[in-house]
Amino acid sequence: MSPTSFRPQSGVFQPETVLRVAGLHKAFGTNEVLKGIDLEVPRGSVLALIGPSGSGKTTVLRSLNGLETPDGGTVTIGATSIDFSLGVRKQARAELRDRSAMVFQHYNLFPHMTVLQNVIEGPLQVQKRDRAEVVPEAEALLNRVGLLAKKDAYPFELSGGQQQRVGIVRALALKPQLLLFDEPTSALDPELVGDVLAVIKELAEEGWTMVIVTHELAFARQTADQVVFMDGGVVVERGPASEVLSNPRQPRTQQFLERVL
Ligand code: ADP
Repeated sequence: MSPTSFRPQSGVFQPETVLRVAGLHKAFGTNEVLKGIDLEVPRGSVLALIGPSGSGKTTVLRSLNGLETPDGGTVTIGATSIDFSLGVRKQARAELRDRSAMVFQHYNLFPHMTVLQNVIEGPLQVQKRDRAEVVPEAEALLNRVGLLAKKDAYPFELSGGQQQRVGIVRALALKPQLLLFDEPTSALDPELVGDVLAVIKELAEEGWTMVIVTHELAFARQTADQVVFMDGGVVVERGPASEVLSNPRQPRTQQFLERVL
């Protein structure tokens, strides 16, 4: 459905494992939020991160995208690796940030920019790409999610579901190696959730590598290859989606699933 150029880049060197996280630690003051998180996401696969509120899921995502600076541990995305325990050079963090793109819970679109401007801002300003190339790509992506007709609209003129689809397009326009979703549907009215999940599912089928923080367990079961259950800043259980969600081994996972299902 999408032009080949929007698919995850191939041909250049890409290790089989797109994301590797080892021993990630983060404290806010005395609150130790991440107590040694390990993750591994092979190319083209989807990891769903689940767990109770406050367990540290968002902090993991934000650490991968350079929005938080972990106190320790290593994050490797593609060919870029940072050991946070060594102190972090700005340059290295920027490099890491360039390899992933984040879709936020509350869309985080720039309110004073049109839909199209929101999508092309990163490729033009951060990636310094050529406008003549970026605009048609952005329009093709908007067309793909049924929003080309809205390219000159402002975010406030769109529904939440439409704004989130723009948020996804904005992330795709950066052509990242890794897509990060932070509860992408939890701010939406129930009737708008399906369209957004359908877009994400399509991206998974196309072979994008993704980490998704979600409370949508039916969606996680259908879409994720791997489910990681976090609680209290640690990974309690991980495995194939069908196993963790249908047949959890750890009592904490069982309790969580009983509460939310
Ligand atoms: P989750 O995504 O699982 O709900 P979070 O990663 O958002 O969990 O939060 C984990 C813990 O870290 C919570 O106790 C939260 O209050 C705390 N926390 C998150 N961000 C900050 C911050 N910027 N400053 C202080 N505490 C924070």
